[in-house]
Amino acid sequence: MNKSIITKKLEAIVGKGNVLSQEEDTIVYEQDAFVMRATPDFVVFPSGTSDVSEIVKLANREGIPIVPRGAGTGISGGAIPVSGGIMISLTKMNKILEIDIKNRLAVVEPGVVNLELTKAVSPYDLFYAPDPSSQMVCTLGGNVAENAGGIHCVAYGVTTNHVLGLQVVLPDGEVVELGGKSIDPTGFDLVGIMVGSEGTLGIVTKIILRLMRRAEAVGTMIAIFDSIDDAGKTVADVIGNGITPTALEMMDALSIRAVEETIHAGYPLDAEAVLLIELEGLKETLKRAFPLIRDLCFRNSARDVRIAETENERELLWKGRKSVAGAIGKIAPNHYTQDGVVPRPKLPEVLRKVIEIGKNRSLLIANVAHAGDGNLHPLILFDPRHPGELERVIEAGGEILKLCVDAGGTITGEHGVGIEKNKYMSLLFSEDDIKAMEKIKDTFDPKGLFNPGKIFPTPKGCRELRVRPIGAGDVQKDIWI
Ligand SMILES: Cc1cc2nc3c(=O)[nH]c(=O)nc-3n(C[C@H](O)[C@H](O)[C@H](O)COP(=O)(O)OP(=O)(O)OC[C@H]3O[C@@H](n4cnc5c(N)ncnc54)[C@H](O)[C@@H]3O)c2cc1C
Repeated sequence: MNKSIITKKLEAIVGKGNVLSQEEDTIVYEQDAFVMRATPDFVVFPSGTSDVSEIVKLANREGIPIVPRGAGTGISGGAIPVSGGIMISLTKMNKILEIDIKNRLAVVEPGVVNLELTKAVSPYDLFYAPDPSSQMVCTLGGNVAENAGGIHCVAYGVTTNHVLGLQVVLPDGEVVELGGKSIDPTGFDLVGIMVGSEGTLGIVTKIILRLMRRAEAVGTMIAIFDSIDDAGKTVADVIGNGITPTALEMMDALSIRAVEETIHAGYPLDAEAVLLIELEGLKETLKRAFPLIRDLCFRNSARDVRIAETENERELLWKGRKSVAGAIGKIAPNHYTQDGVVPRPKLPEVLRKVIEIGKNRSLLIANVAHAGDGNLHPLILFDPRHPGELERVIEAGGEILKLCVDAGGTITGEHGVGIEKNKYMSLLFSEDDIKAMEKIKDTFDPKGLFNPGKIFPTPKGCRELRVRPIGAGDVQKDIWI
C-alpha cells in the first residue's frame, strides 16, 4: 500500500481537511474504552452515505481493512484497528433527519449522540428508550453496532427492539436499505442481523428508530442493604412477584463510596449495596406497586427504603449511578469493565464469587449491575504502570465470564464481543455454531476487510496483529488472544 497515493485518493473523496494520515494525528484514534490499542493508517470523516460508499469501494479495490468508529466508548475493543487500515469516523454524520410524531419514529444519521435524540423529541413527550450510561457521548450508530442496552432496558428492551430500518454500506460499497418505517416488514430479518454485528458486516449510515411516549408518572426508590446477597435476592423477588420496574440497578460498597466522594448523590457511605428501582406508568399503578416493592426489600433485610421526593433528588440518584465509571478514577487510574449475564436468582452467588476472584488476585473490584437483566458490570481496578497487573486483570475478567457461563448465563449483556471476548466465544458456541456465523460473515464480506479480528476467535495463523496494551508494559499475547 502506497500511503501517500491512498491519502490523495481519500482526500479526493472527502476533502483535504477530512483525512488524517500522519501518526501524530492518527494516534488519537488508537483507543476506545478497552485496555488495548492500535493505530489506524488513516482516519477519514465522511459527511454523507455516498462518501462512505466511495471510501469502502476504494478500500475494497486496494484490499485495505476498514474499521467504523462512533464515539469510541466501546468497551470490548470493537473500534480498535488491530490490522491497521482506514478508520471511518461517523461523527460528522450527526443530523437528526426527521422526527415523525404521528408514526412515533425518528430518522437519524449514525453520528447522532444517543441523549441528543431524547432531548430533541422531549418537547413532544417522547423519548428514545435504550439509554446506556454513556449516553451523553456514545453514538446511535455505535449503539446499533453493539446492540447497546442501558438502565431502562429491563422494561423497554435493548437497541434491537427499537430499530425499524437501516441504511447500510456493504463491504463492496453497495448502499442498501433494510427494514423501513412500517412496523412489520416481510422477508428475512436483515435489520436483526445487522444490529449487534459490530461493524463486521456493513457500515450503518442512516437509522430509523422507534420513539416511546413518556408515562404519566415516574418514581425512583433507593433501597439500602448491609449485604450484597440480600440486595441480589431482592432483585429476583421483585421480578418474580410480577413487577416490571423500568429500571432495577445495583451498586456495591466500593462504587457507592467512589460516587459519594464526587457526586454526593445521597447514598449512605456505610451501605454494602444499594438498589435503585424505578417505576413508570399511571399514578395509581405506582401507588400500588411501590409498597409491594418496599415489603420485598424489608423481607430481604433492607436497612432503609425511600422514594425520591423531588425531581432533583431523583435525577441525583441516577446521576450517581451513571457516574460510577468516572468516579472510580479517584481510586485507581484505570479500570477494566466486565459484562457477563447470569439468571437473576444466581446474582447473589455469582457476585460473592466475583468478590472472591478479586481477593484471590489482589485486585479491587467495584460492582455495578443492570441487576434486573442479570447483567453484571464488575469494574476491575488497576494501574497499567504496575508490571503484571494488567495480565492479572485480564485473567480475572476471563474467570468472571466462565463463572457467568457456568451459572447458565452468557459472556456479554451489551458491550459486544470485539477483541475482548472472541477467545471466549467457545465457552458458549460449538465449532459448528461458529462456522455457521462465519458463513454469514463471508456472505457479506468475502474479503474479510470489515473490522477484521473482531467477534470470531482469531485463527492461529493470524496472530500478527499490531495491538498493544495501554500504559507502558507488554501484555503476553496468549493472555488476551
Ligand atoms: C462509562 C461507560 C458506560 C457505558 N455504559 C453502557 C451501558 O450502560 N450499556 C451499553 O450497552 N454500553 C455501555 N457502554 C459501552 C458503549 O458506550 C456502547 O457500546 C456504545 O454503543 C458504543 O458507541 P460508540 O459510538 O462509542 O461506538 P464505538 O466505540 O466507536 O464503536 C463500537 C463498535 O461499533 C462499530 N461502529 C460504530 N459506528 C458504526 C456504524 N455507523 N456502522 C457500523 N459499525 C459501527 C465499531 O466498529 C465498533 O465495533 C459504556 C461505555 C462507557 C465508557
